[in-house]
Amino acid sequence: AKEAGRNAIRFFDQAMQTTLDRRARLEAGLRHALVRDEFVLHAQPLVDRDSGLVGAELLLRWLPDGLQLVPPDDFIPLAEESGLIVPIGLWVLDQACATLRRWDDDPRLRELYLAVNVSARQFRQPDFVDQVCAALARHGADPRRLKLELTESLLLDKVDEVVFKMRALRLLGVRFSLDDFGTGYASLSYLKKFPFDQLKVDRSFVRDIMSDPDDAAIIRAIIAMGRSLRLSVVAEGVETEGQYAYLIEHGCTLFQGYMFGRPQALSQFEAMLDGCSDA
Ligand code: C2E
Ligand code: CA
Ligand code: CA
Ligand code: CA
Repeated sequence: AKEAGRNAIRFFDQAMQTTLDRRARLEAGLRHALVRDEFVLHAQPLVDRDSGLVGAELLLRWLPDGLQLVPPDDFIPLAEESGLIVPIGLWVLDQACATLRRWDDDPRLRELYLAVNVSARQFRQPDFVDQVCAALARHGADPRRLKLELTESLLLDKVDEVVFKMRALRLLGVRFSLDDFGTGYASLSYLKKFPFDQLKVDRSFVRDIMSDPDDAAIIRAIIAMGRSLRLSVVAEGVETEGQYAYLIEHGCTLFQGYMFGRPQALSQFEAMLDGCSDA
């Protein structure tokens, strides 16, 4: 029995070591990923009940040389801890602005907005507003077609500082969406202090609306609340007709999910719309 216990511990140690090794390797790789040009942006459609395709969310992909694609849920937390998310986030913003400018030349793409994920750590940089302005100016992109997705953790920061930055960007026309709504700590009274335009219901609530009455109740409450605060509500992770019908029935009008399109390389996304008159 003693022997078995020792083996279990050794096995555990090895498993831990493997996890730590992988982590250390990823972190080391992440440091060079920008200069090695290993990031790619994918786009996923954002769809309105009445007008069809209205925009796209940019989702970051990392393809380290010689390795398999690393999903964002594996490397974004590492990038956040190490601070690398700041330069990475600036690269994403720059690419977003370049894309918006490129889309200006196409009658179909010109109508769409781009949503960009901004990590709390990036938003907290003292020069964040300047950096966004610089990226917009560098490419001559229309600020009104840029939407920044922030997460609830920011709402625990100093309200005045967050609101100040949001207002400065809103003056230019930039809009804000509160991502992963429902998973964090944002209370209603808190939420109304910040000038958001939109809420995105986390896909963990959407997944089981057809089978879990509690999740269904949460979704209905969020949609109703969004309406009363005059915020648009996007349902994320919509995969089935059933979910879509339920969400429509309860007043949701904006959607994102595999049912409407998976994230795909930007070039593919653009090619898909080439020659399309409607979504
Ligand atoms: P998110 O912002 O909540 O993005 C939505 C995630 O849901 C994406 O995962 C998307 O691929 C996935 N998704 C969309 N529709 C469906 C569906 O119908 N079913 C299922 N099962 N999943 C769906 P992804 O691309 O793996 O990104 C994960 C997270 O990584 C994002 O969650 C976001 O928090 C973060 N992330 C991605 N790109 C960036 C970025 O450029 N900057 C920052 N700071 N974070 C990013
Ligand atoms: Ca998002
Ligand atoms: Ca989300
Ligand atoms: Ca998420």
